[in-house]
Amino acid sequence: MENIPIRHLKNIGVLTEQRLTRLGILTVQDLLFHLPMRYQDRTRLFPIGHLKIGQEVLIEGTVNSCEIKNGKRRILTVILQDFSGMIALKWFHFNPSQHYQIGEKLRCFGEIKNGLNCLEVFHPETRRIESNTPLENTLTPIYPTTEGLFQPQLRKLIHQALQFEIPDLLPKELTNGLPSLLESLQIVHSPNPEEKVEELLNGQHPAQQRLALEELLAHHLSLRLSRQNSQHYQAPILIKNSRNIQQFIKTLPFQLTNAQQRVYQEILNDVTKPSPMQRLIQGDVGSGKTIVAALAAFHAIESGLQVAIMSPLELLAEQHFKNFNNWFEKLGVQTTKLIGSLTKKNKEQTLLKIANGEAQIIIGTHALFQESVVFKKLGLIIIDEQHRFGVQQRLALKEKGTFENNHPHQLIMTATPIPRTLALTLYADLDVSIIDELPPGRTLIKTVAIPISKRSEIIERVAQICSTGRQAYWVCPLIEESEQFDIQAAQVTFEQLHHDLPNLKIGLAHGKLKSKDKDQVMKLFQKGEINVLVATTVIEVGVDVPNASLMIIDNAERLGLSQLHQLRGRVGRGTIESFCVLLYQPPLSNLAKSRLTILRESQDGFLIAQRDLELRGPGEVLGTRQTGIVKLKVADWQQHHDLIGNIPPIAEKLLQTQPDLVPQLIRRWVFQSPFSEVY
Ligand code: ADP
Ligand code: MG
Repeated sequence: MENIPIRHLKNIGVLTEQRLTRLGILTVQDLLFHLPMRYQDRTRLFPIGHLKIGQEVLIEGTVNSCEIKNGKRRILTVILQDFSGMIALKWFHFNPSQHYQIGEKLRCFGEIKNGLNCLEVFHPETRRIESNTPLENTLTPIYPTTEGLFQPQLRKLIHQALQFEIPDLLPKELTNGLPSLLESLQIVHSPNPEEKVEELLNGQHPAQQRLALEELLAHHLSLRLSRQNSQHYQAPILIKNSRNIQQFIKTLPFQLTNAQQRVYQEILNDVTKPSPMQRLIQGDVGSGKTIVAALAAFHAIESGLQVAIMSPLELLAEQHFKNFNNWFEKLGVQTTKLIGSLTKKNKEQTLLKIANGEAQIIIGTHALFQESVVFKKLGLIIIDEQHRFGVQQRLALKEKGTFENNHPHQLIMTATPIPRTLALTLYADLDVSIIDELPPGRTLIKTVAIPISKRSEIIERVAQICSTGRQAYWVCPLIEESEQFDIQAAQVTFEQLHHDLPNLKIGLAHGKLKSKDKDQVMKLFQKGEINVLVATTVIEVGVDVPNASLMIIDNAERLGLSQLHQLRGRVGRGTIESFCVLLYQPPLSNLAKSRLTILRESQDGFLIAQRDLELRGPGEVLGTRQTGIVKLKVADWQQHHDLIGNIPPIAEKLLQTQPDLVPQLIRRWVFQSPFSEVY
């Protein structure tokens, strides 16, 4: 059935087929695996007097009044009443058949909103009923869809698909007693009346768990295969040791920490083998990942190969350029920038140097992906702050760098600490190295949590710190769905500080600024020409300003711990005493209290991530911007986090006992897998 095209189903015209294709649904199997994103509950009635705002519910009552108001917009308003209370139903678009008589009985479904005088529902689905009209007896699945394709039609098509036989690929003993695949699909697409409604609504039903397990497993296996596959590729063997390298290490202004040494050795082990390294370095902010990457780079250079270093931000690329140039220029190694803001002529020259091999270390942003970039002999790719890059982009760069059948080695650096169980499942295509030690001499960042009512005292504190020549960050993080609010918040703080601290230079940086302007502000801050930088979370990614010693974070109670930790890591980069102020809106829930306490008491990113995981689940730990991690259909990092640790051993068993099933499983769940070459 994985090969039966959808047009073999009844009632599919060309247009429907096109729309389904847009959703990635080409076969009957795809349709079966198009899973509901949520359910509506039309199986029970809610008393009107006990409704809560935001609920999406079924209600029933008699019409108390029905009138059309002719204001700026015509509105049809019906007051509906049951034994417990009244609610207003409102329509902006209506037709004559909706002229309801007083005393008529109506059943409505819709979302409850707060109105002026009473609760209200806009455009409810409404039908006239007799006193004994039966309720629906199953939950109504709601599917992800696309323009022109409506829920009832999707539901009917999926019902047709459910008539097909679908082979269960997982042996029973691997599924922890959860229902079979067929049973699970039946339940999620058309739940029986006797299924546990609450469980289904919460994603906790065994059928959903079974599907989540299979989905996580498929993604994990797809990554593992990609890795197995890449071990068959050929990679250049890098030189293990040379006098230059020893010399280089000796001239560094510091001694490598034990953790840096260990990770360096792990890298050396990889790059001196004939298959491409795929290694992730995890290390807290400030743990010194860059120098380890530079050492790896030197081995590639000594082997006569080029190194590409990619950063998510232009400013970071500049920072790396400065560092690498500093280290390598005296050795006669040529470092080059490839960023969007180069002039046309400059860019052409740079491209030429990359193509003829003159440029040995190339540092850039996404510009490195462009068609026009051709490397002469790329031996190593270094990617900084991995979570901003997707798997796809990583692969694209790897393809670009192929020469004479050689695939470059890959080193990926991230400051997002990911607990081991998660890393094993999610980064199955990578080996993981951990720098779990900070360079000596770092002062602890003193962290305090302070209620927002003491804001003016904090502003005084800013003045005081800046009067000693230090600098401060004031972060107004993403708190609303829309970044717009966020920017407004930053704007307000910016203006307030501008007003209250007339002697200081205040800067503002947020995501909606042009990247040129953003870089400009950050540069001024870096040079010390701005005293206080008000920013949204755009500053999160590793920009180094050692002179900044105060970090203030607004609405700290609403942010994930790991994110707070990353933000805090912007200060304490030098040896001066640094502070972090977590401003919160009281009252704090117990959970929020214990979260802020963890942050006050610890500065260990891994411990913080682990505690965050225990308190809030992986959704929080991974953050929402982890574009490197796939979007899942049914599995949810939050709801199914108990399953995650089980995935690697199950994958192992499946690979050992029935490896032939693996590609089928992947094809089922991983839409347009970037690793399609694997099968
Ligand atoms: P991150 O891991 O956050 O990218 P960086 O590589 O930017 O951290 O390093 C942070 C700072 O620590 C830099 O100024 C770097 O020169 C310095 N540093 C790195 N390793 C050591 C070390 N072993 N001893 C002292 N300072 C170090
Ligand atoms: Mg860094």
